[in-house]
Amino acid sequence: MHQLDTDTICAIATPPGRSGVGIIRVSGALAQNIARDILGFAPTHRHAYYSKFLGIDRETIDQGIAIFFQQPNSFTGEDVLELHGHGGVYVLNALRDRVLSLGVRLARPGEFTERSFLNDKIDLVQAEAIADLIDANSEQAAKSAMRTLQGDFSRRINDIVEKLIATRVNIEAAIDFSDEDIDVLSDTKVKQALDQLLDELHETYTQAKQGALLKEGMNVVIAGKPNVGKSSLLNALSGLDSAIVTNVPGTTRDLLKEHITIDGMPIHMVDTAGLRSSDDVVEREGVKRAQAAIDQADQVLLVIDVSESEEDVENLLKSLGLLNDKSNSDRSILNRTTLIFNKIDLIPNNEAGIETIMVRGTELTIVKLSAKERMGLDLLKQHLKACIGYNSSEEGVFVARERHLVALRNAERLLKTAVNLINKLSPLELVAEELRIAQTELGTITGKFTSDDLLGEIFSSFCVGK
Ligand code: GDP
Repeated sequence: MHQLDTDTICAIATPPGRSGVGIIRVSGALAQNIARDILGFAPTHRHAYYSKFLGIDRETIDQGIAIFFQQPNSFTGEDVLELHGHGGVYVLNALRDRVLSLGVRLARPGEFTERSFLNDKIDLVQAEAIADLIDANSEQAAKSAMRTLQGDFSRRINDIVEKLIATRVNIEAAIDFSDEDIDVLSDTKVKQALDQLLDELHETYTQAKQGALLKEGMNVVIAGKPNVGKSSLLNALSGLDSAIVTNVPGTTRDLLKEHITIDGMPIHMVDTAGLRSSDDVVEREGVKRAQAAIDQADQVLLVIDVSESEEDVENLLKSLGLLNDKSNSDRSILNRTTLIFNKIDLIPNNEAGIETIMVRGTELTIVKLSAKERMGLDLLKQHLKACIGYNSSEEGVFVARERHLVALRNAERLLKTAVNLINKLSPLELVAEELRIAQTELGTITGKFTSDDLLGEIFSSFCVGK
């Protein structure tokens, strides 16, 4: 599938529906002939023509602007024809059918971008950035997608790969000429080079992580006993009345989801059914789903009613099953939990604020607020941003996906292993192997070493006409 095929493809590139302008895009060797048939003349490269678009009997289907791009100077690297007509469903379909009747087939989703990638016009991160730019729904997300599209991220990766290759060449030379007097290991230059590469990888990872947060967002689960104000908190943060707020315990029986943004970072909020064992079948199911949501959450907001709760925090965490996982890793629930002391408006002289408390050796943050009176919500938003290391003012962030982060982390791990091997004076062959795999990992980001399956998955998530 990822061999470049020679079919000429076409698609309506604008969204279906009514609009002032609708665009049909054609790419491939037949584009010039099609232009001749439909316009009645041969257009020259990159000129805009105001022209009739002719049907099979030379009747006028529509009229508008036609632009022809001669390969390789086009988006796909092939001959491309764009017909900008009127954006009506009937005319656009008629014009597309006319193009299809000339030996052209309909493009698959993302196929124009795929061709651009296969013809080396853009690399894989840039191709993904096109999809991200189209999907961007905040200024920050759009800016970071644009930075990646313009090659900022690719340049970083390529620069690291080049330095890695230079280091590999040194090490391979030392292996090949081991009898001669090339003593690489005592040569601090190699170690210095690897240390510098590790710094650069780490910095790139940090910026890519910000970009990924902009794209993927953060999953936040609101948990707690019934009636403590979970739905109210969700509503207060989202500004919508989507959760049912009542003073009957156990009203929220299913998971309610709400998407909000904090300074451009998308947050997917989930309100759980009151976490408690229940005889009610529906409610029991809700509790099960709540547990599953908590397991996957980036942050758990555990809401406590300060006006009633006499309970010790640790007992409460235990009764809600949040202390079940014994692991002390970063992913342990405790490490991902923030305590929300809600309803501070009911306690005299109590102000919104942030405090910390130690629970089983882990420092937990307490945010004191009132969901109903909307006090302290900003503190909570700032805290959520801080938790995940999101910095909205950071310049130079480029959009990135989880797969990029995984590759960067793997490369970092491999380089660290290489440094350790050098420190232990291990055979150079082992060092060389770690570096070789690290290079392959980085190559998956830009698409130099990316499997056909993954390419298929990436491009099929695009829209038709892109
Ligand atoms: P849930 O069962 O945890 O989702 O709780 P709800 O959001 O349905 O709230 C239960 C009750 O507590 C409702 O009557 C809310 O109006 C009330 N409530 C929620 N937050 C506050 C708050 O900050 N202050 C006060 N005074 N009441 C609140």
